[in-house]
Amino acid sequence: MTCGMCGREMTDEGIQKACRGCAAFGGCRLVKCPYCGYEQPQQPGWLKWLVEIAKRKQETKR
Ligand SMILES: [Zn+2]
Repeated sequence: MTCGMCGREMTDEGIQKACRGCAAFGGCRLVKCPYCGYEQPQQPGWLKWLVEIAKRKQETKR
């Protein structure tokens, strides 16, 4: 997903690393940006799915 603050693409690995210091790891629903440290609510699964579909459609157009 993309960070709402700095606009950089966050990988699941990066998010997990940034979240490691969080005491509620695995329990909190916030995603911490590894670049700027901005915390935001996790992207819902259905939204992620929609983004993937949109990306695929753009790729097939080319
Ligand atoms: Zn960020």
